[in-house]
Amino acid sequence: MDLKAYIRDIPDFPKPGIVFRDITPVLAHPQGLPTVAKEIAAAFADQAIDYVVGIESRGFIIGTVVSHAIGCGFVPVRKPGKLPAAVHRVEYELEYGTDKLEVHQDAIAQGSRILIVDDIIATGGTAAATAKLVNLAGGELVGYGFMVELLALQGRQALPDVNVFSLITY
Ligand code: IMP
Repeated sequence: MDLKAYIRDIPDFPKPGIVFRDITPVLAHPQGLPTVAKEIAAAFADQAIDYVVGIESRGFIIGTVVSHAIGCGFVPVRKPGKLPAAVHRVEYELEYGTDKLEVHQDAIAQGSRILIVDDIIATGGTAAATAKLVNLAGGELVGYGFMVELLALQGRQALPDVNVFSLITY
């Protein structure tokens, strides 16, 4: 299916001047998530992967179907204060201010091979922070799988030197 045809542009969201790429029509199509899962899993078919790490919240939607397609586990990376057990936390820069992400300290067996998945890479700040969490938790980062990459923001340059796959680019 032509996934890009199901991504909607919403001008001036969440702020004036920003064009938000809305993936919800992809989710609503019966072949949307199966297609995304199959293609991201295929891009890493030659790699052993123990866990997909998905970033709250759309990374949970994409990440869980990718983990199912790969046949591996899923680990959530969450906004602060949501995970109940002991956590690792990273703080990272936003355009204005900072944000934080957390993962359970015992979520990943030492040396496990990790694929980080999110819906969209923009500046790469969120994905780079998630790599730091994977390191803190003792995982070995194999690569990144994104549904959408916003090329103009050059987010890949913020990421560690691993395989970065994106299904749709703008
Ligand atoms: P980054 O940290 O600048 O790469 O932003 C990536 C994060 O912001 C991801 O978790 C995305 O879900 C979200 N994001 C950034 N831009 C968009 C967009 O246009 N549509 C949907 N989500 C976006």
